[in-house]
Amino acid sequence: MAKTERGMKILMIEDDLTLCELVGSFLRKKGYKFYQHNTFEGAIQSVYDIRPDLIIMDLHFPDGNGLHLCKQLKDDENFENLPILVLTGRDYPVEKDIALKAGVTDFFHKPMVYSKLAEKIEEVLGDAIQISFWGVRGSIPCPGKEFSHFGGNTTCVQIKVPAQKQLLILDAGTGIRNLGSQLIEEEEPVTGRIFLTHPHWDHIQGFPFFKPLFSERNKFDVYMPQQITGSTKEVLVDQVSYTYSPITSQMFKAHLDYHPIKREGQNFEGYSVRYISANHPVETAIYKFEIGRKKIVFCPDNELNTLENSSMRGKNLPYLKQFDAFVSEADVLIHNAQFDLEEYRSMENRGHSAWELVVERAKKNGVKHLVLTHFGPDFTDDELLKVDEKVKKMAKDSQMHAELAREGHTIHMSG
Ligand SMILES: [Zn+2]
Repeated sequence: MAKTERGMKILMIEDDLTLCELVGSFLRKKGYKFYQHNTFEGAIQSVYDIRPDLIIMDLHFPDGNGLHLCKQLKDDENFENLPILVLTGRDYPVEKDIALKAGVTDFFHKPMVYSKLAEKIEEVLGDAIQISFWGVRGSIPCPGKEFSHFGGNTTCVQIKVPAQKQLLILDAGTGIRNLGSQLIEEEEPVTGRIFLTHPHWDHIQGFPFFKPLFSERNKFDVYMPQQITGSTKEVLVDQVSYTYSPITSQMFKAHLDYHPIKREGQNFEGYSVRYISANHPVETAIYKFEIGRKKIVFCPDNELNTLENSSMRGKNLPYLKQFDAFVSEADVLIHNAQFDLEEYRSMENRGHSAWELVVERAKKNGVKHLVLTHFGPDFTDDELLKVDEKVKKMAKDSQMHAELAREGHTIHMSG
């Protein structure tokens, strides 16, 4: 089950209960997490509740048309790239064409040959890279209803790498707590790598609240650029010292190894990672993950100043050159957007960016998909929704897809 990486959830939407049971027991044995919904009605809510990695469905229901559901999912930015595999006894080219246009990814034709179904699922899921946002806020967590749409937790992102069972986690802001709770619910031993960009609070504060750290069955490798104030271990152990925290590092029962990350690059099973220094106080990484043919750049803290009349202009130019080369043609760039331009003008030289300048630079560098994140704590949902609209408008005249990150949102990419 090389490609049935842990955590892959399959939702089957099908009114034939016997078929569901049979497929379910087969897929569970294969290591997938299987869910079913047996009516057309309420199916979309199930997708919202379960957030599956793949949907297997029929197109014909006694109470509705499956194509409508496909269209609804494709029109929802949460699920636009969610793979949909249609299980069907029919094989009419015209129908197939209509279904593909409605957003169906692929077809599996009955009669059911289970080994063939497994192959098809691996084919559809096998190349998929997923980027999930667990925290998108900068500086400090923001609870409250005016932040509930985009989310109030600080930075944490998870990348699911095809054929890789180890978790890949970027930064350990308060968002990592929810990820930990989900992993505990799954009741399986967890191994993973956590790449920290730097040790500012909003990037490590969730670490002591990451529940898998408290079980000896789990194992993590933690990477961070070398700090002048101490090693990766010292920096993380310091934040839970006696004065500041009732949790101490002795309470972490998981097997933990701490490492400095090598700038020139390191290869892991299924991906490689390199970094350059961000324009940010303390040594901060801009990470580039290469997974198959895809390049994902993670840059939650960085000051990208391209203003002509800036006081930073002189020292900034060589840095910009390096940044441009590093992010050029990235498939996904996840970048800081702490301010809008107006606010930024009074906040220069503090290590954060204005979204307008980031969109402009990403476009210039041929980035394919820009995701803005690390929003300042004063950005409410209403304001961010307006920013999201403006960002999309700014990207319109280019090939770039641009959007704002949102807690709970997953980007699906084919490898
Ligand atoms: Zn920072």
